[in-house]
Amino acid sequence: MNKLLLTFILLWPPLSSAAALPRSEPVPGGVAAIPLSVGESNPAPAAYYNGQRVLVLRDQERWLALVGIPLSTKPGRQTLRVKSGAKTFTQRFTVQAKSYPSQHLTITDKRKVTPSREDLLRIERETGEINAALATWSDTPDVEMDFIPPAGGPLSSAFGLRRFFNGEARKPHSGLDFAAPLGAPVAAPAPGTVIRVGDYFFNGNTVFLSHGQGLVTLYSHLSRIDVRKGQHVQRGETLGAVGMSGRATGAHLHWGVSLNGALVDPALFLPETAR
Ligand SMILES: [Zn+2]
Repeated sequence: MNKLLLTFILLWPPLSSAAALPRSEPVPGGVAAIPLSVGESNPAPAAYYNGQRVLVLRDQERWLALVGIPLSTKPGRQTLRVKSGAKTFTQRFTVQAKSYPSQHLTITDKRKVTPSREDLLRIERETGEINAALATWSDTPDVEMDFIPPAGGPLSSAFGLRRFFNGEARKPHSGLDFAAPLGAPVAAPAPGTVIRVGDYFFNGNTVFLSHGQGLVTLYSHLSRIDVRKGQHVQRGETLGAVGMSGRATGAHLHWGVSLNGALVDPALFLPETAR
């Protein structure tokens, strides 16, 4: 065998390879990668932000916390609480300001813009279910974050858009939209476990995947769901099909990514070429 090729094979993958990480952007709706002041020979520390446990991984001879920052966070100093063995300490980090553009949409189903009292009760119940799904924690030591795009088609609405439906201000856009046609397959971006499937007032048919350590992804407005709760899926496995169930102006995939219970910009998890 060619000596150069052999050397290449023996050295691949590089020994101290860095884990596939999302792009660090410490802004509201972003992800902060924070090196923890804990020796790498220590066992994995536990870190908490706003009382929620956060993802911690070993990266290039150090422990790194990946903190999801809620879109509603005010820029400024933030505190991370770290537990390493019997020791507990705090680490500070700064959230920078980011202004997101506005988007005006016209919804013909007025009930989806101004829900009835009955609808509001349903929305309240569903919000509780969705938040509980997003707060799912599992002790997975190696969380795979090298995501592939879950759908084909161009990106349409970006994360964070300040939204107006029929001229009325509503919650900002908490995910990333793919303009894929009705019936197109929706794929798991990384291995995960289906923790919930449901039909919601705004999100329509939705699948929730847990990837471990509080990294949860969701897939909304589906026309069909092909997985069931408890099922383990591989990267690229079909979860369902693109649709326009719930509050949607047309067929598209709404993709949400949550870290420590905070919905963050999914584009941070995609390779540069797919953004
Ligand atoms: Zn969307």
